[in-house]
Amino acid sequence: MKIGIIGAGQLGQMLALAGFPLALQFRFLDSSPESPGAQVAPIVVGAFDDIAALRKLAGEVDVVTYEFENVPVAALHEMAAARPCFPPVDALRVSQDRILEKELFGRLGIPTPPYRAVDTLADLEAGVAALGLPCVLKTRRLGYDGRGQRVLKRRSDVGPAWEALGSVPLILEGFVKFDREVSIVGARSSRGETRCYPIVTNTHREGILRVTVAPTRDARLQRAAEGHLHRVLDHFGYAGVLTIEFFVAGGRLIANEMAPRVHNSGHWTIEGAVTSQFENHLRAILGLPLGDTSPVGHAAMVNYIGTMPDRDRVLALPGAHHHDYGKAPRANRKLGHCTVVAPTAAQRDAVLRQLLRRIPR
Ligand code: AMP
Repeated sequence: MKIGIIGAGQLGQMLALAGFPLALQFRFLDSSPESPGAQVAPIVVGAFDDIAALRKLAGEVDVVTYEFENVPVAALHEMAAARPCFPPVDALRVSQDRILEKELFGRLGIPTPPYRAVDTLADLEAGVAALGLPCVLKTRRLGYDGRGQRVLKRRSDVGPAWEALGSVPLILEGFVKFDREVSIVGARSSRGETRCYPIVTNTHREGILRVTVAPTRDARLQRAAEGHLHRVLDHFGYAGVLTIEFFVAGGRLIANEMAPRVHNSGHWTIEGAVTSQFENHLRAILGLPLGDTSPVGHAAMVNYIGTMPDRDRVLALPGAHHHDYGKAPRANRKLGHCTVVAPTAAQRDAVLRQLLRRIPR
């Protein structure tokens, strides 16, 4: 069985690594022949909207999936006409547009921050008046890792934010004074079986995920998050892994966004859960039984951003698992991560503190 993966970044690389024990083979599509996926499987080199390259990939594989959500919807339609393609194109389409995403959450009864679509400076002024300050202005599409957003704290921020972002459709969101951020990763198989991982607590800086701590034991929030995830999975007749990120404010979950793919906040599952998110994504799209999503201890995942740490010093820590994606260093680029797994939360926290001291910031 050959799986085609659109995108050959670290998520694709980790999907392929998870698939080898299941006797799966992989082909990637990516514009760069030096992407992390190249270390583990051949790459069809081409842009994501290059019809000839897409057809070539389709011709070489049995099933197609994707590892990042900025794949053009038209490209995925092209693929879906030739080969089974998961997660569904419609989930990709909705996840690419923050307004469509929030409208869907609203229809499914999933709370979101208050928001307004912004296409003109007048919309922005009216939105600020309606939502109040502070608020967050974001591009509707193609934003990731905090790119394309501005926090508006005072009236004088409105003009510069419009200057910086106003050339594309925007969304203005009320600023959520959250206590923490959590996410849930879950899988639905093409046969309709679903499994959820425990919710995890995420820390971001400059809009980029820095640390995930897993599991977050809170039975009430877990039930609520699973309910929200199931509604989205069922809405799309989904197959694959889906992630929803939430703010927790006043003990309530407020949805920020969803990703129709394996997710950075699920990397801890490679060593910290019985079955990793990567293996479960593959099982889900192939209609295989899903694997146990229980944690095997207490885990923390730390991203290596911009610079790699000294590998040997990381490996000297108990329960540390080092992942180097093989990417050239660049500011704000995710180059790798480390997951620590320990028998107790206190032991995990002690190793995490040591790990953070060994990672350049
Ligand atoms: P996003 O690109 O939407 O995932 O935003 C990146 C990060 O910015 C989030 O993880 C939050 O830490 C912060 N953020 C985004 N939207 C809001 C909001 N409406 N209120 C408060 N913080 C936000």
